[in-house]
Formats: sequence, structure tokens, C-alpha cells
Amino acid sequence: MIVKLLKIKPYPSLFAGYSVLLLSCAVIVAWFLDIEDIKNISSHYISMKFNTALCFVLISISLLLRVKDYKPCIIASVLALFVAVIGLISFSQEIFNYNSGIDELFIKDVQARFKNEAYPGRMSPLTAISFFLMGTGVHTLRFKQKKIINATQYVFHFVTLLSFIAIVGYIFGVPKFYKFSFVTSMALHTAVAFFVLSNGASLLNPDAGFTAIFTGKGVGNRVGTQLFMQMFLFVVIFTYLRLQTHRYSYVNVEFGIVLMAISFIIISLFLIWKASYTINKSEVKQKIAEEHFKLVVESVPNALIVSDSTGEITLVNVQAEKLFGYKREDMVGKKIEMLIPQKFRSYHPNNRNSYHKAPVSRFFGAGRELYAVRSDGSEFPVEIGLNPISTTDGGNIVLASIIDITERKKQEALIERQIIELQVKNQEMEQFNYIASHDLQEPLRTVSNYIQLLEEDYEDELNDDIKFHLKTMDSAVSRMSMLVRSLLDFGRLGRNKKLKVTDCNILLEDVTNDLNNLIQTTGTEIITDTALPKTYVYQTEFRQLLQNLINNAIKFRKKDVPSKIIIGCNTKTRHFEFYVKDNGIGIEEKYSHRIFQIFQRLNKQEEYEGHGIGLANCRKISEMHGGRIWVESIPGVGSTFKFTILKLENENTFKLHNAG
Ligand code: ADP
Repeated sequence: MIVKLLKIKPYPSLFAGYSVLLLSCAVIVAWFLDIEDIKNISSHYISMKFNTALCFVLISISLLLRVKDYKPCIIASVLALFVAVIGLISFSQEIFNYNSGIDELFIKDVQARFKNEAYPGRMSPLTAISFFLMGTGVHTLRFKQKKIINATQYVFHFVTLLSFIAIVGYIFGVPKFYKFSFVTSMALHTAVAFFVLSNGASLLNPDAGFTAIFTGKGVGNRVGTQLFMQMFLFVVIFTYLRLQTHRYSYVNVEFGIVLMAISFIIISLFLIWKASYTINKSEVKQKIAEEHFKLVVESVPNALIVSDSTGEITLVNVQAEKLFGYKREDMVGKKIEMLIPQKFRSYHPNNRNSYHKAPVSRFFGAGRELYAVRSDGSEFPVEIGLNPISTTDGGNIVLASIIDITERKKQEALIERQIIELQVKNQEMEQFNYIASHDLQEPLRTVSNYIQLLEEDYEDELNDDIKFHLKTMDSAVSRMSMLVRSLLDFGRLGRNKKLKVTDCNILLEDVTNDLNNLIQTTGTEIITDTALPKTYVYQTEFRQLLQNLINNAIKFRKKDVPSKIIIGCNTKTRHFEFYVKDNGIGIEEKYSHRIFQIFQRLNKQEEYEGHGIGLANCRKISEMHGGRIWVESIPGVGSTFKFTILKLENENTFKLHNAG
């Protein structure tokens, strides 16, 4: 649990910084108010000196600044170096036996004088060395080179060791450990503060130094951490018991030492047995996982190849054997470059190295030509998916899945050819349509002229029957001319289409304004059910689409029932779905597809005028927008015409959609 908390960077470091800051501030206040119980928390009359508390304040602030920014911060460096210098001066006084005046620079150590201490106000040499090391360490935290990080880490570890020895000295009541051979000693809270601070600082680089043992994710790390904790606890308890039995002479020395040795062996044996059991269990699990992995690799229908960071093939499946025409044993242990065409081979090691520096799942091949080579030397196009897999030793292997896309390439080329052919055919059709409808107008005009000529020049000689027949001929010719013109319009539809962001609400308003006369005379009511979107459309064509549908909804109304039209739009994930609903005569289901074909009408010309081109145009326009059109209707009740258009983010996407 504690180990888990320690791994949540940077909270342990923040905790260390803030707690030491709090403690040292309390000691500073205690110095000013002369509260002896805070200056000295142990029963050994060893107080944390004012300079020590001050250095703790500075170094913890420096550490906190490093944690917060974790980038070069000049204040953090200055504070850390300042602390290192104070540590160095204090220590040098002890070595060279002089008094620089630094000890009582800020405050007089009255108590020490009263107790007749040798150097009032002076921090212990152990404390001074620790500050020198901590100061330099926190300063060098700004550098990111691996070597410096490692060196810094060991500096922190050394401070941890010194403070730990001092703490042990206090726990077991052996002054030599917190004093060494110096005159003055490290106070208990000073030792604890160093312990907390040095560990907090080292946890900023959890992957370096001894810290990595406890923060690593491997089984070894987990077992090692547990073993260390248990042994530590066990040694502390037994040593304490041993000392107590010795101090109070419960047992004689020889018996005590031997008893401790026996207990130590038994407990160590038990702990080591537990650790080896855990490691063995995890090894078995790993073996099973490896077997599963191999089975999965084997059963995949794609060719799979596993290689390490040096490019050596470590595993292949049967599909890879088939694809490359090699036997398994001819590939495993060889370099992956053997499967790359000769002309690309020399580039590959570089690509591989840069991939292993930042390994992520990647897909290669789509959009660019990638080739592999078979055992017979033949090359073929491929798509490759790379998946990095972390190994237990901290390295990476890569699982490559290779797909032969020869067939797909052929299909793509075929489709491309067909699209081009289709485009050419379309153009030819359009041209034919244009010429046919254009040229057909000419003879029709001639026939019409002659009818007119006959009517005007022979008016007196023609009897009523002939006049009636001529009229019928004339209206048939006009109708044919109209049909031909519609055909021409249909062919031309969308020729000069222009895509524009359009507020469909405004567009609808324009359409209803244009149809105002018809709407008024027929007593039509138009209701906008939902707001229409603002989106990319071919404006002229889209307007025609709406107009046709509204026009039809009015035209095909029931006799004596004014038309009520409801218009709206539902927004779907990829498209907008518009609807125009009426209460007209409706359409039988069996005709619901036919009406969208050109010149298909369901009603007599005398009943409802028209040429059967409107809905064909509507279909063409909705398809032009990447959508479709259909009708849902109940005869005698009404019809709902629905059409969709694709949602577009920009002009280009739409053009792409319409390509071809
Ligand atoms: P036109 O309106 O010129 O006849 P359209 O292509 O617009 O040609 O329509 C084809 C046929 O579909 C119409 O003749 C009619 O029978 C049917 N139709 C179209 N709209 C409606 C509607 N709103 N209600 C009932 N029938 C309709």
C-alpha cells in the first residue's frame, strides 16, 4: 500500500517538501519563542539548531519548486546552492577548527551556552555534510542527462543512509550512530527530516538508483520490495529485543547472540521460501502466457512475425511461412531485412531504430507503396501493422502483421478503370441527350409551323373536323416539344453546380415567396416543423428540389381539401434527413419507386398537369448531394417525401464524395 502510494509521482515528493517545511518553520518559531520542547524532541537534549531549521526551510522550498515546474528554475537552484554552501562552511569549521561566526549569525544559542556546549548554535558535522549533499543534489535535479540523474540519485541515497543510521541510533539508544566520532550530534527530528526529504527528492526520478527497485513494475521489484520490508521489520524488532534482553540481563550474552542467529536463519528461510514461491509461480504464469501468445499468433489468418529491437526474427506463424515461402527455421534467428526487397534493405535498420525509440502501434502501406520479397525473389505489395510488446526485461519486441495486397491492388486498378470508363460513358450520354433533344426540337418546330400555316392560309377551306384534328396535332407537338425540353433540362441538371454554405430556412422562405400566388389561390398552409440546417448544398439545384416537392404537394391535393404541408429536417450522424409531408391524394405503395423515374406519371393529364420529370430531377439532385429520396404514403391520406443530403465539413469533402 505504502509502496503503491510512493509510486504516484510527484505526490511523495510534495509530501516530503511540505512536511519538512512545516517542521522546520515550527522549529524556527520555537527558536524565537524559546520553546525548548520543539527545538529538542528527543530525551537526549539534542536540539535542531537555528541554522539547521533555516537550511531545511530553504531546501524544502527549493525541492517544492523543482517538483512544481520540473524544469530549470533559477530560484530553486540558488536556494539549493546556498544550502550547500552553508553546509560546507559549517562542516569546514569542524575540520579546520575555526569559528566563522555563521553558527550564531541569526540568533544566539543561549541554552547551549547555559549548558556549556562546545560550539553554541553549530549544526552537527553530520547535518552539515547532509546539507551539502542535499543542496548539491537538489541543484543538479535540473539536469536531465542519465548519468547526472543517476549520480544525483546516489547522493540522495547517501543522505538517506546517514539519516537512517542516526535514526537507528536514536531507536536503539546508541549515540555513536547519530554522533559518529564528532562532538555534536544530529537531532532526532533533523535525522527524520533528512530521511523524508532525501527520499522525497529521489522519488522525483523513480526509475534511477535504488528507488527503481521499489518503483519498478516487474515481479522481481514486487518480491524484492516485499522481502526488504519484511526483513527490515524483522531485523529492527529482533535487534531491539536483543538489546533490551542484554540491557536488563534477561539472558546471558552467548545465549542471546545464538538465539538471535537461529531466529534470523529461520525467519530468513521462511521469507526466502515465500519469495521464491512467488517468483516460481509468476514464471509458470509467464510460460503459460507465452504458450497462449504462440497459439494466438499461430491461429491468426494473417502472416505474423515477431522481431526484437535488433531486427532478429523470434517468432513466425504458419501464414508467414506460406506468404514468404520460407520454412520457419529459415526465418527465426535471421534479420527481418531478409523479407525486404534489396533496394530498400539498406534503409530499414535506421527506420527500425527510430521506431524502437518511440514504439507505438502503427499501420504502414495504406496510401504508399510497400513491398516485401518472397524466398524465390518475387516482390509483392503489402500492408503492415506494427504492434510493440514490452518484454519483462524492459525491452520491446514488435509484432508485425503482414497482408498481401496484390489482389486488392488489382481490384483497385479495375475499379479505377471502370470509373474512368463510366465517366466517359456518362459524358457521351450527356452529349447524346443534349444533341438528341436539341435536334429533335427542329423538326417539331417545322411541323408546328406547317400546322399554323395550314390553319391561317386555308382557314376558309378547312371544315371543322380537319380544324379539330389540326388542333390535336398542334397540342401533341407542343407536348412533345415540352417533353424534349424537359429531357434537355434533366440532362443539364447540375452541370454548373456551385457548392455554398446555405441557410436552408432562408432558402425555403425564398421558395414559398416564389410560390406565393399558388399558395394563396389554393389556400395552402405551410408549416415548418423544425428549423432547417445551415449546410453546404448546391444552391440552385437544392432550391429546385424543395420547389418541386412543395409544388407537387399542392398540385396533388384532394378536391375541396386545402393543402397542408409540413416541412422539417432530422439531423443524423452523417447526414440531414429532410421531409415534406402533405395531406393530398397519396400514392399506392407499388408506385413508390416508379414515380422517381423520368416521365412516369400516375394521373391523367386532364386531372393533374405535368410531364413526369419533377421527381426524376429531385432524385438526381439528392443523389448529387450524396443522398437519396423516397416516399412514404397512404393513398387518400397523404404522402411524406423524404430525402437525405450528406453533412459536409468543408467544400472539399463534398467534392471528394462526388468524385466520379
Ligand atoms: P409531374 O408532377 O409532372 O406529374 P413528377 O415527377 O413530379 O411529375 O411526379 C410523378 C408522379 O408522382 C406524379 O404524376 C404523381 O402521380 C405522383 N406524385 C408526385 N408527388 C405527389 C404527391 N405529393 N402526392 C401524390 N402523388 C404525387
